[in-house]
Amino acid sequence: MVSEIRDRRFSGGYHCPHCSSDRVVRYGNYRKRKRYLCRSCRKTFTDLTSTALHYIHDKEKFVHAAKLMLSGATLEKTTKKTGISIPLPLAGGTKCLIS
Ligand SMILES: [Zn+2]
Repeated sequence: MVSEIRDRRFSGGYHCPHCSSDRVVRYGNYRKRKRYLCRSCRKTFTDLTSTALHYIHDKEKFVHAAKLMLSGATLEKTTKKTGISIPLPLAGGTKCLIS
């Protein structure tokens, strides 16, 4: 899942989510994610920085919920099946993130 997001997000080459610079280098790891350093603004980021998944702790549950919703399940049904509550703005973003 994360690799899919990384492939789509950085398909045109790595760029900084903070300043959009392409002067980006690998900078070790952060919480099992590849970490990068922007040489322009000196900020670091991971594959998920500035994505909806960055703020979600149980990513597997979120992916399960997203798949349910993409298959046509309502927000209420998805919440009951997965046991998680997806804020409405994120629910809309889920389709953008996965499709
Ligand atoms: Zn930057």
